[in-house]
Amino acid sequence: MKGRSFGERHFRVKGKRRPPANISPIARELRKRYKNFGHYNRKNPLDELLLILCSVKRGEKVYLRAFKTLKQAFPTFEKLNQASVKELTKQIEWGGLQNQKARSLKKITTAITGKFGKLSLAPLRKMPKEECEEFLCSLPGVGKKVARCVMLYSLGMKVFPVDTHCWRVSKRLGWIKANSKHKFCVSQDMDKLQNMVPPKLHLSLHVNMVSLGREFCLARSPKCHRCPIAQYCLKRGVTELR
Ligand code: SF4
Repeated sequence: MKGRSFGERHFRVKGKRRPPANISPIARELRKRYKNFGHYNRKNPLDELLLILCSVKRGEKVYLRAFKTLKQAFPTFEKLNQASVKELTKQIEWGGLQNQKARSLKKITTAITGKFGKLSLAPLRKMPKEECEEFLCSLPGVGKKVARCVMLYSLGMKVFPVDTHCWRVSKRLGWIKANSKHKFCVSQDMDKLQNMVPPKLHLSLHVNMVSLGREFCLARSPKCHRCPIAQYCLKRGVTELR
């Protein structure tokens, strides 16, 4: 096994992906610490999509307030659907990036209404997983990560969204190799990780890796000396960005 990492050597058996050997103890430690905290996600898939849109490039306090303001201004999806870009911009302006977000929001609500005849993502509950992901990814500005967040949190589907925290932690744990060409997680890597994580751990590992990434496994100067999963980590003591 010389020259291969602890995590990597467990990935492929006869062409199939197997979970990394350290995944169960890591999942257990993280669950113990974070208790599957759900990061304020919403049961309604459209609300979840709106919340994610509000969260783009903004911290938790700011985006939660932006979402609350939006919901207060447009308490029903019908009212939201009738709002102009100008009205939407006004409601989310203090949260930043308001012009861009309001335009995206309008395009998304128009596309959903065009597809289902009303502003609702409830019909997704009856769709197969692949079809659901395809539709969500067809919405303006929605990629695989966002689609899978909506599917996991609000539709209860077995998917594993890879956000910036899950991506950074997975690389440091040796579950996936960083591709030097890409700064961010590319679609194929999202699929690789999703195939690697057992479905029963999709939700808990995702939410707890986000918590870990926010508290200990920071991009710069991670707090490895206090990290609850340091004993399983290949990059313990890392100081640089990767
Ligand atoms: S030991 Fe350090 S690099 Fe590894 S997961 Fe913990 S905080 Fe991240």
